[in-house]
Amino acid sequence: MPDVLTPIQRHRNMAAIHSFSTKPEQKLRHALWHQGFRYRVNDKRLPGKPDLVLPKYHTVVFVHGCFWHGHKDCKYYTVPETNKAFWVAKVARNQERDQEVWRKLEAKGWSVIIVWECQLKKAKLEETIDRVAGEIVRNGEAYRAAQEERKKAREEYRRERKERKEREQSLLEEVKSL
Ligand SMILES: [Zn+2]
Repeated sequence: MPDVLTPIQRHRNMAAIHSFSTKPEQKLRHALWHQGFRYRVNDKRLPGKPDLVLPKYHTVVFVHGCFWHGHKDCKYYTVPETNKAFWVAKVARNQERDQEVWRKLEAKGWSVIIVWECQLKKAKLEETIDRVAGEIVRNGEAYRAAQEERKKAREEYRRERKERKEREQSLLEEVKSL
């Protein structure tokens, strides 16, 4: 970041970069699409407006910019010397928001995958795509297994209720016939 910009100019620049659908994210998206994964992009109905939503796998993916979201021990997260306190506070706020979004999504039963932008650089792209695809599939299996469990529990409950009613009914009839 050149320090010739005023903080406001820099802020505007970064906001513009931030909101733009970045190329590395598209690479990930296209690779997943080619592998047969189907998703919605920037779904506003879910907390945090996830970058990708895969309903079938009950999974969302966020691609996080290393600087904006403060990727720990990453060379792309270096706080500018000018206005250091401002940037540290800004990133800390983003991280708090990320965690809040994560909690809300998990409370609704969604699995959350975080991909850092540095993991989409050429040298790591393939490895990252494999990792994400694997996680999506595992999340989908876990989701279906959980649904299956809930279904079984519901059936069990219905069966017990039916049996109890039948017992009550036959008791009533016994009483009546006395
Ligand atoms: Zn990073």
